[in-house]
Amino acid sequence: MSRRKPASQEEAKTRVVSINPATMEVIGEMPMSTPEDVKQAIRAAQKAFGGWARLGVAARAQYLLRARDYILDHMDDVTTTISMDTGKPMVEALNAEVMVVVDLITQYAKRAVRLLEDDPLPLTNPVIRMTKSSKIVYQPLGVVSVVSPWNYPFSLAMSGIIFALLAGNTVVFKPSTEVAVVGKKIEEIFTKGAVLPAGVLNMIVAAGSSVGTAIFEPPVQKIVFTGSTAVGKWIQQVAAKHFIPTVMELGGKDPMIVLDDADLEMASSGAVWGAFTNCGQVCSSVERVYVARSIYDRFVQLVEAKTKKLRIGSGLDFGVDMGPMISLDQLGVVENQVMDAIAKGAKVVTGGKRPEHLNGYFYEPTVLTQVNHDMKVMRDETFGPVLPIMPFEAEDEAVQLANDSIYGLTASVWTRDRSRAESIARRIQAGTVAVNDHAYTYGLPETPWQGMKESGTGVSHSDRGLLEFVYPQHLHLDHSPAIMKRRLWWYPYSKEAYEIQKMATDAFARTKNLPRFLANAFLNGKYRKTLF
Ligand code: NAD
Repeated sequence: MSRRKPASQEEAKTRVVSINPATMEVIGEMPMSTPEDVKQAIRAAQKAFGGWARLGVAARAQYLLRARDYILDHMDDVTTTISMDTGKPMVEALNAEVMVVVDLITQYAKRAVRLLEDDPLPLTNPVIRMTKSSKIVYQPLGVVSVVSPWNYPFSLAMSGIIFALLAGNTVVFKPSTEVAVVGKKIEEIFTKGAVLPAGVLNMIVAAGSSVGTAIFEPPVQKIVFTGSTAVGKWIQQVAAKHFIPTVMELGGKDPMIVLDDADLEMASSGAVWGAFTNCGQVCSSVERVYVARSIYDRFVQLVEAKTKKLRIGSGLDFGVDMGPMISLDQLGVVENQVMDAIAKGAKVVTGGKRPEHLNGYFYEPTVLTQVNHDMKVMRDETFGPVLPIMPFEAEDEAVQLANDSIYGLTASVWTRDRSRAESIARRIQAGTVAVNDHAYTYGLPETPWQGMKESGTGVSHSDRGLLEFVYPQHLHLDHSPAIMKRRLWWYPYSKEAYEIQKMATDAFARTKNLPRFLANAFLNGKYRKTLF
């Protein structure tokens, strides 16, 4: 592996040079897509759409199972590629990326066939249902743009791609340039493993600042964006011009509430893992801990001791617990927040600086106390290895502090009392609230992943997440006998039409009057002219 940065700003605009942020070694280079490449990708996706949609879900699922088997056959290679491109530990590259994707395909290759079957819609009106029926048919949307971030470059990109393809859409996919090498691996999985028809999946290599708006405008029919709230808002505005629906999976500032009856050994281990896994670069990482005053000191001691034991280094080394940050920019964000907190009175319990002995973009796992909501570290997304801990006096205060955020992605409550846990969980404004665990439910593809407030809109994963990729079209079918030439509500209007509709309104509400209405309408011929 060589070590080199792009030679010039000019080169940075035309080529992506990927480095391993743990070692600074160059692990891959590739050309940036040109604006013409972007247009070509969208055209190719549009052209491939009809054939792919017509295949049907069962046949499409077979392609995805081939992609899955390719991943399984190349598991070490895929995991190593993810670890090298991000610096994250191999265990995390496996369990939070590869395993999630394999499970998602395994579950939904079967489940999608059932979920996307035509869905009969029972009609309730007793007269209408004698001659009509309704059903929902799940139509694919067309071209879907999947734009993904660098922190989980494999699982986040794949979850959008897999559901979009299963549902019959074609995809234009743009990974973050920080992780373009993982993007290329995804492309390889679908070309060599799944052997998708040409144009069904099209990858763009482009920086966010240069990709333009084409991937958020027609003919694109849906946008799945995972990334920062700021960029999400901008994309939402572009999409709104054409009413293009979006799934927005955005930032978080996730709280953890530790009640006075919590198992402190477990809660402190959960806090350390929840804050420092993936070097804290997790949308749903523990970014704020609120601990009952009576157990606060003991909790901080345990967290400090466990944090000090974490081993930092290159994720390729199996003896490492925490890798580097992705970039110098992200490291700068974290340093800035920690400095702001210290200036406003926070105490650094451990960490708070870059380790001296390591070369890459490392920052020590950092625990802060004496924090408050005036500090950036308690308000802004940190997205790095920082764990601020704050005491609370009463449950209501804990809930109020947890909800004091523009974000609402995930949260957790730690207690031995199940009913207390559930009653607090219901009051927290977050897409997912876990009890005695944190963040990991992204690894359960059957559960929904979603944000409230500025953490996003729409759903990823789960049955509802699959339905984001289809249009539930309503088909209303006619079975009326040929003798029925008109409908009750058609022209011409008359006193007689008014009378029968009045009687119908009454009979459909007070069903005891239904027989009299049916007799009048159909048997005694009184309203024959209105119906036939
Ligand atoms: P980002 O918003 O900077 O970039 C995300 C993606 O959007 C990248 O592919 C980037 O190249 C692209 N992009 C950026 N600006 C663009 C533009 N103007 N036009 C088109 N594309 C553009 O986010 P990031 O730094 O890559 O990721 C970190 C953020 O993602 C954090 O805020 C994190 O919370 C969030 N995130 C959310 C979830 C979730 O599920 N809610 C999951 C992971 C990450």
